[in-house]
Amino acid sequence: MKLLEDRIRQDGIIEDGDVLKVDSFLNHQMDVELFARMGEEWARLYQGEDINKILTIEASGIGIACIAAQSFHVPVVFAKKSKSKNIAGDVYTAKVESFTHGKVYDIMVSKRFLRPTDRVLILDDFLANGAALKGLIELVRQAGATVVGAGIAVEKAFQPGGDLIRSMGIRVESLARVKSMSPEQGIEFC
Ligand code: 5GP
Repeated sequence: MKLLEDRIRQDGIIEDGDVLKVDSFLNHQMDVELFARMGEEWARLYQGEDINKILTIEASGIGIACIAAQSFHVPVVFAKKSKSKNIAGDVYTAKVESFTHGKVYDIMVSKRFLRPTDRVLILDDFLANGAALKGLIELVRQAGATVVGAGIAVEKAFQPGGDLIRSMGIRVESLARVKSMSPEQGIEFC
């Protein structure tokens, strides 16, 4: 999506350790007009798929998912991150290793909000090693619901997550796919 690629070129900051900082428009300060255009694009790509729920993960996925959901007219559920070891009863849980912090944490969604009949689109800001997305897919599968696909704002295609998730047979639509990036050479898209 050219609009997003142009914005990343303009305002993204490439940091050491393969981290792309986009906090001026994507995951700290948020450009909701841009999110609306992203939502329209995912709605176009997933047209006819009968999506009835959007699933994302706190915190950075929530803003994007809520604005994007206005193009789908469906509810948004976000997986909560939990540090507690014994999460009680009526929740689906999965473990996720954080790309940005390196720690393992549990994610959870109440069983009331994921049902076997649900056709779920998973949305998130970044795809790096694929751990967050894999955890979200696991929650949907525990519920016996269907993962229609994933919508990612920025996929770092030089990291293994995209291949990993696609090899599971999951459709992944990333609006910007970064082929390579470095503070010296700048950024190249696929
Ligand atoms: P993964 O689980 O695919 O390794 O990483 C996905 C999560 O890590 C995203 O939800 C995002 O919050 C964070 N993340 C991964 N790479 C980057 C990055 O380059 N920049 C930022 N800002 N967050 C990232």
